[in-house]
Amino acid sequence: MNHSYDLLVVGGGVIGCSVAFHSAKKGAKVMVVQKGPIGGEAVALTAGLLAAQADADEPGPLFDLGRASAALFAGQVDEVRELSGIDPEYEPCGVWVASSTQKGKDRLLDKMRWQQERSLAVEWLEPAAVKDVHPGLGENIGAAYFPTDAHIDSGLWTLGLAEASRRKGVRFLDQASSMEFLRERRRVSGVRTGEETLLADQVVLAAGAWTPRVLDALRISIPLEPVKGQLMVLAGVPRAFRGPVYAGAGYLIPRFDGRLVVGTTYERAGYDTRPTLDAQRFLADWAARWCPGLRDLPVVDFQGGLRPGTPDGGPLMGRLWDYDNLFIASGHYKSGILLSAFTGHYMADGILGGRWDPLGASFLPERFREKPS
Ligand SMILES: Cc1cc2nc3c(=O)[nH]c(=O)nc-3n(C[C@H](O)[C@H](O)[C@H](O)COP(=O)(O)OP(=O)(O)OC[C@H]3O[C@@H](n4cnc5c(N)ncnc54)[C@H](O)[C@@H]3O)c2cc1C
Repeated sequence: MNHSYDLLVVGGGVIGCSVAFHSAKKGAKVMVVQKGPIGGEAVALTAGLLAAQADADEPGPLFDLGRASAALFAGQVDEVRELSGIDPEYEPCGVWVASSTQKGKDRLLDKMRWQQERSLAVEWLEPAAVKDVHPGLGENIGAAYFPTDAHIDSGLWTLGLAEASRRKGVRFLDQASSMEFLRERRRVSGVRTGEETLLADQVVLAAGAWTPRVLDALRISIPLEPVKGQLMVLAGVPRAFRGPVYAGAGYLIPRFDGRLVVGTTYERAGYDTRPTLDAQRFLADWAARWCPGLRDLPVVDFQGGLRPGTPDGGPLMGRLWDYDNLFIASGHYKSGILLSAFTGHYMADGILGGRWDPLGASFLPERFREKPS
């Protein structure tokens, strides 16, 4: 049986769901084809940090993109909650970055300086003030506080986007078996799945770390690779931490349900998401070093997931050069939750309305196009 859509989204993770939601809001007839349950990595387990300022390495287009996306959350959360009935537990509590060395403090002061030059809110807290906010944090020489950063339950956010999309008429298909792209010269006219043929005017690839496999089928080469991350969840200690804290090579996030999430690792391990002993040791050492009071807490969960990584750490958002109607929204690496709010409306505006926000200009897939030799 044939079905026709304005837009076909391949991949139902946080990015695919956001693109579907914003496109449906514009009145498009949208289909999402997904492998496995809706939600992707965001539902498995992520930190849910919306740390546009705290996690920024330098000023530049990626920083501006993160800030723009962060600013969209409050409004989008209200909209999604109202439509879906799912509360994603968005908490604009700020994010803290602690240091135990003078070198680390100097780096933080430098980050504060270039952000303050851009009139952004950030303040330095001396150790006594840090202790007041995070009694569970061990020895440190102070922390930078980024009050406009936030936290969200990434699983609930993605499920909320999916449910809100459904309410707007989006259809989801869980396609466990392989599917075949239908091509006509410079167009992808749809996909053939086991059961049906789905025709579409426009197609968006949003399969996260698995996007290279989808691109292979279309004979497009883009340097995108899975970067594994592992997280450990501890039974909580009430009121030990008031919000997310980065320190040294890790971070800790108190969840609404009282549990504590400790992260994370960055590993090139292909598509294997199984948790490893090495990562458990690394995260346990981090927790023992930075939060000695947590030593006796039970580990209640331990998971691995995949980030879609690109060589420059920036996402891929835009049309794929060999095709007139094929787009990509992937490569969001360690910030896919943060960037989901911007990506959804950016892609919908661009694909359906022909208006590409200039903020996305640095993230076109073209930048990785192989030059003919
Ligand atoms: C440990 C960890 C912690 C993280 N913490 C944060 C954080 O604090 N803040 C933040 O902003 N980001 C964080 N991230 C990054 C974030 O999770 C990712 O950037 C985000 O999930 C990418 O979203 P996506 O929709 O592109 O990919 P995914 O979430 O991976 O979704 C892609 C979906 O496509 C599906 N798929 C695959 N192949 C196919 C196919 N052939 N056909 C159809 N569907 C297919 C997959 O099953 C999957 O459901 C973290 C990631 C990890 C691993």
